[in-house]
Formats: sequence, C-alpha cells, structure tokens
Amino acid sequence: MLITVLGSGANGGVPQWDCCCPNCSRARENPKMRRARSSVAVSLDGGQHVLIDATPDLKFQLEGVGLTPRPEEAEHGRQSRIDTVLLTHGHGDHTVGIAEFSTGKSFGIPVHGPPDLMRFLFGSDDRSSFFGDLGRLARDYVLPRDLIDGGRLDLIGGLRVTGFEIDHTDRMEDGSCFPSSTYGYELEADGRRFIYTPDLGLLTEDLLERVEGSDLFMLDATFWWDDELNRISGLRKTSYDLGHVPVEESIEILRGRDIGRVVYTHLNHTNPLLDPSQPAMKKLRDAGFEVAYDRMKLKL
Ligand SMILES: [Zn+2]
Ligand SMILES: [Zn+2]
Ligand SMILES: [Zn+2]
Repeated sequence: MLITVLGSGANGGVPQWDCCCPNCSRARENPKMRRARSSVAVSLDGGQHVLIDATPDLKFQLEGVGLTPRPEEAEHGRQSRIDTVLLTHGHGDHTVGIAEFSTGKSFGIPVHGPPDLMRFLFGSDDRSSFFGDLGRLARDYVLPRDLIDGGRLDLIGGLRVTGFEIDHTDRMEDGSCFPSSTYGYELEADGRRFIYTPDLGLLTEDLLERVEGSDLFMLDATFWWDDELNRISGLRKTSYDLGHVPVEESIEILRGRDIGRVVYTHLNHTNPLLDPSQPAMKKLRDAGFEVAYDRMKLKL
C-alpha cells in the first residue's frame, strides 16, 4: 500500500492567509514548512488512487505530487487517477475540493461518506444541495454514496476500506451531529492495515482496539496543548471543545502500544511542533512517533 500525504495542515493550513505569527511567518519564508489542508491519496500500484478528503487546495496538491493524467493512458486527452473519494466529515477543509471535479470530463467518481454528510453536501433526489449540481456540462461528475457506520468497500485491486464513526463534530441536542458525523477510515491490503483519523475528538477504547496491531495510524495533531488557543491567542475554546485530542495527551495514550508507525497530521498554525526550537518535537520523537509533512510518502 502506497500512501501519499497531500496535506498535513488543519483548517487554514500553514501559513494562514491573514496571520503573521512566528509559525506562519517562518512558513512564508521557507516553502518547506508550508502545510496544505490534510488529505491523503492511497494506491496499490501508483496508478489509480483512493483520495481521502477533498481540500480547498486539492488541485495544487495533485499537481505537487504528480497525481496528474498520464498522456499515454488518457482518452481524448483526459484521465482521472482518482478512482474513489472517501470523506471524513463536513468541515470545509475536508470537503470544499469536491468542486474541483466539476470541470473537464465527467468521470462519475464515487464519493463515499457518512449518510448525514452525503445529505448535507449533495441534498436529496428531490432537493439538491450545494454539491448536488456540480458544473454545467454534466450532472454526474461525482456519484454520492452513503456508507453506513462500520460499512465496508472493496476498491481498486483488493483495497478493503471500512468507515467507522469517531468523535469530532459538534453533537446537537437532538443527538445529530453538525455539520455531519465524522468517520475514520481503515484501509487494508496484503495483510497491511492503515487507519486515518485526521480530526479526532477522543481516543476511545473501540478505536484503541482497532489500531492495535495496525501498520500505520495517522491521527490528529491540531493542537499540542488543550489550552493552546488561550495560551497563544487568548481564545477560551479548548482543544477538546473543538473536537481534537491534544497531542500532549494522545502521545501518552498511544505510547508503547503495538502499532507499526504513529504519524501525526492536521497541524494548526499554533502547534509548537511547527517550531524546531520548542521541546514538543523531541517529546514526540522520544515516544517513537513522527509528524507528517506535505508530499510525504509511506509504504506499507
Ligand atoms: Zn479538519
Ligand atoms: Zn499563524
Ligand atoms: Zn473537522
């Protein structure tokens, strides 16, 4: 299984468009420190890919890693090397890129996600929603597909996918989540298992059981501290309030478990992991863990 990190930043990426904090300023000076919004592409042979999340940066991410049409394989000069899209949840940094597929040829790319997310993005048969009528040349650029909690898919050449609900989005009084519930995805091929939860509010027993014995667990590194926004911007909301387990805590929960590689992604511009002079990176590395970066490639 080949995994390409298309982006490793939180909502807003690094730098954020209107921010001149030290982390954003450093990223503006040094392109290597920039982070697009979080997304990964998974392939078995490097040809066709499963895309997890479609960010506002999608087009530049695909170009940046060469996930572009191959002239010798294209028909009438067009080719999609995205076979399927899996969406985790309804926040803009994970979904807005769907609009990219409304140009050029209509490939009818299946887009799977939680049923409430599919309704939120695409509407219903009798009442279309924002992405329900993409583009003006055709109606089937993408094909929304409900994936139930725990549901399985068999994709490109033997890649098995399971979507499972995790804690992240806001829980409403009626029990529903806004803007949608949130899924993590488990991908399995040739006996290798990869679990992806870029936005994760809680490391539950169920999830810990799932990641046990896996080859790669890529998870939420939005904030290092629970009170990070208060420390840095004076905002009262905590990491847990916003549906993210702080890295400082998840490191301790994951330390010493039987997981091949633990790789952190979805970093907010406030995260001290972005500053080489801070002790955070050393603490994370001492636990045997890694931080994802844009265009990182992993092989399982
Ligand atoms: Zn996010
Ligand atoms: Zn900043
Ligand atoms: Zn989110």
